Order: sequence, then C-alpha cells, then structure tokens
Amino acid sequence: MSDHVIPGIDPQAVTPVPHRGGWTAGEHALEVHAPYDAALLGRVPALGAGDVDAAVAYAKQALHDDPLPQWRRVDILDRAAALLIERREQFARTICLEAAKPIRTARGEAERAAGTLQFSAATARTLSGEVVPLEGSNVGAGKIGFTLRVPIGVVGAISPFNFPLNLVAHKLGPAIAAGCPVVIKPASQTPFSTILLARMLIEDCGLPAGYLQVVTGSGGTVGNALVDHPDVALITFTGSPEVGWGIRARAPRKRVGLELGNNAPVIIEPDGDWRTAAAKIKVAGFAHAGQSCISTQRILVHRDVADGFVAALVEGVRGLVVGDPAEETTDVSALISRSERDRVKTWVEEAVAAGARVVVGGDLTQDGVLAPTVIVDATPAMNVCALEVFGPVVAVQTYTAYEDALAIANNTRYGLQAAVFTADIGKALHAARTLDFGGVLVNEVPTWRADQMPYGGLRDSGNTREGPAYLVREMTEERLVIIQA
Ligand code: NAP
Repeated sequence: MSDHVIPGIDPQAVTPVPHRGGWTAGEHALEVHAPYDAALLGRVPALGAGDVDAAVAYAKQALHDDPLPQWRRVDILDRAAALLIERREQFARTICLEAAKPIRTARGEAERAAGTLQFSAATARTLSGEVVPLEGSNVGAGKIGFTLRVPIGVVGAISPFNFPLNLVAHKLGPAIAAGCPVVIKPASQTPFSTILLARMLIEDCGLPAGYLQVVTGSGGTVGNALVDHPDVALITFTGSPEVGWGIRARAPRKRVGLELGNNAPVIIEPDGDWRTAAAKIKVAGFAHAGQSCISTQRILVHRDVADGFVAALVEGVRGLVVGDPAEETTDVSALISRSERDRVKTWVEEAVAAGARVVVGGDLTQDGVLAPTVIVDATPAMNVCALEVFGPVVAVQTYTAYEDALAIANNTRYGLQAAVFTADIGKALHAARTLDFGGVLVNEVPTWRADQMPYGGLRDSGNTREGPAYLVREMTEERLVIIQA
C-alpha cells in the first residue's frame, strides 16, 4: 500500500482511548498491523480488568449525575451522522487499512454507519412508552397507567473485526438513543475505527465523556472483565458463536444480545432468474473476501440450470480484481490474518480430497491473497458447507426436488438469513414459511441488509435482533407508572 498512515493516528505513539473523562494510553500497548502487508498501523493501550472496573464505575456515575434527556440524544446523533458523512473518506481509509476492506466497499460501510446513526436519532426522537388501559377492569377504576422507557443501565459492547465502523455504530447509536452509557471493547485487529468514532462523538458532537469509554485489550482480559462486571446491565456482542455462547453462559443474570455466525444458503429454482443470481453472488460471496456474517456461502442450484448458472458465476468471479485494498479497482483483498487464510485454504483442499472440484480460484495470488474460489460437487458434510467459511469461497450443490433444497438449507446449526430465487409466488411463500432463519429473502441474496431492519438469527447465529429501533427496546426498561386520579 502506498501510504499506511491512518488519518489522525500516529503509528509510532500509543493512541489513547477515552477513559474516565480523559484519555489514557495505559501501561502496556498492543500493536496493530495491516492485514494486507503487515505494515505497522499503530499501537493501542492493552488495558486490564482494573481499567474496565474504573470505566464501568465512571459510566454508572454519569448515568446517575447527568441523565441524557431525549432531545440531547437526538442532537448528538444528528450531529454525529452529519459529521460522519463529512469525514467519510477518513473513516473509509481507516477501515480499508485496518481490516483490508477494499476502499470502495469501505466507503459503503462509512455511509451505512452514518445511516445507522440517522436511524438511531429517529428512534431517539420518537421513543415513548404506552398508555396502559387500567380502567378496562373494575380493579383499575379511577386509575391512570402508562409506561416510561428508561435506560437499562451501563451497556457493555463487544465488536468484531469485519465491520469495524458500522457494527460499532449499531451498538453506540442505539445506546445513545436509549440514554445508556457504553463501555466498548473493539476487536484487537481493528480498534482505530472505534477510537476515531469515539473521538468524534465526544469532542465534536457533545456526548458527555461518561457516556462512551473505549477499553482496548484482549478479549480474554478486557472482554471477560466487562462480561463479569456486576454493574454492566446488558452485553451486546457481535462475533463468533464460540465466544458469544461462552458470554451467555458466563452472565446468566444479564441481558445478553448475541449476533453470531452463519453459512448463508441460497436456493436457485429453474424458474428463477439464475443470471441475476450469478451476478449478485459474484459480489455477495466475495465482498470483503467473504468475511461477512451473511456472506453467500452455500449455493443450492437446480440441476436443470446448474451448468448455465455455474458458467455465469465463474465468468463473473474471474473478472474480480484481487489485491491491495487501497487500490480503487480492487474487489477482493486479504483475509484478516495469515492463519485465517491458511485455514480457509485447507478447507478447500479438504473438500477437493473428499470429491469436490475447484472451478475457479483455490490458490494464492503473488501477494499471498487467497483467490476468490468456486467449488462444485460439494456435499453437506464438507466443512465448506457445514461450517462458516468466513473466506472468499462459495460451495455449489445441485438438487432436483425443491423440498430437498429447502431441507438441505435448513440442515445447519446456523440460522441468520437464507434466500431463494424463483418466479413462482407460491414457492416463494413456501420458502418464507419453511426456511428456519431470522430473515428469508426472495429474488435477492441472503447477504442483503438494510440497517433499519430487524436483523438477527436463530440457533448458533444468535438470540436477538439488531437495527436501532429493535436494539433500543432491549436497551431500555419499561417502567410502569400508576396514578390514582
Ligand atoms: P470473535 O473472535 O468472536 O471476536 C469478537 C470480539 O469478541 C472481539 O472483540 C474479541 O476480542 C472479543 N472476544 C474474544 N474472546 C472473548 C472473550 N472470552 N470474552 C469476551 N470477548 C471476547 O469474532 P471475530 O473473528 O472478530 O468476528 C467474526 C465472527 O463474527 C464471525 O463468526 C461472524 O459471522 C460474526 N459476525 C456476526 C455478525 C452478525 O451480525 N450476526 C456480524 C459480523 C460478524 P479480540 O479481538 O481481542 O480477540
């Protein structure tokens, strides 16, 4: 990459994080390297359990001493959305460098994050309780009842590396809208998007310091301390099922929202528009090198259209530009780490050893990036079908009966989003009723998401719905008020 400097970050210094009303560099530091070429991007504090403890105490005090009225939440979020749009290029470059997300895709993420804050502001603007019809029974005669939506308390947020800005906005935006102070732990590979967003919120948007503190450090230390803390009322976690369900088990008395992994299936019926499906999957299977929780992974295509579909997909995938994420032309870049790249490559090799064929990709480019890979003749037991690949690989299976395809799609430990391409409304509605997922898409890829929709999964994909309006409900308590008139 021509220039490795994240705007506003000194690569040689430890970048301080907001903590207890000031900015701390901690006693120890973690280095952050670019996944594409291992260049040093900077250093962040390696905080410990004591720092988490202090941050939570400060947040709790802020909620007590300085509760944020609704109009201030709206004002802060409106300002943040506007400034994020203004600084879109700075944020896009940060995402591009720390996550190896191609710059055009990174710009899309920055724009989406601004939208997430706008929807959070809209939720804050209209947040209200409801009137309870107490006089509907004779015991309630003469009484008036209503509910108030009050902040649940201190929120602990833990975020993954793959959307280092927008998934953080999906936690901070609703928390601000709900009036909750947040202590956030970003992924260690991608902390700078969070730090820059926090800087903007506190220094330029009027968010009181007690309402946002960032605790960088390892998941096992800082993450666990946040999960264990008795004064954290809610944990909002996005990441892998292994860590997520471990958190749920560790904090039985807390509200814990989990957004986890997936191995998204798409079914292509013979009456469906398979050319459009191929064109969409060329993007949906390989954007950010497949490192999206709803990356299209399992492709179930009817035998009658399989040849045409695979040929169209392969042609599209051959046209993808692989390389430096900072180049305007790049479509696919490096995975988050060498070890992840090697794991994904091994899964491809194992599939081939078990009888599948690689029709494009499967190897490394000159700069060590795993090429976008299409596997055919895949079977459900292979890791590339059974587990979450989280890499630039799609696995094609063929079928003859629609019911079989639905059954194969459902045969998974995950349940985030699934899709079907068909021109038959009856089949579409049958899929909507049969596919056991948080979201079912028709004539669209399972990778599609709008930030205001209820988004979340079943089974190993999680236990909650994100989207500002939905998460704000989780982050508030309904307090009942009864007045004897
Ligand atoms: P991860 O390894 O589970 O890490 C996620 C976060 O958890 C990181 O901040 C990590 O910190 C932290 N962590 C690790 N161990 C912890 C512990 N014991 N206690 C508390 N926190 C801990 O996941 P990832 O590799 O960053 O992200 C990829 C996964 O996220 C995939 O499975 C993907 O499908 C899923 N995802 C889901 C959604 C969704 O909305 N459903 C969206 C995006 C991603 P360190 O970085 O310090 O280890």
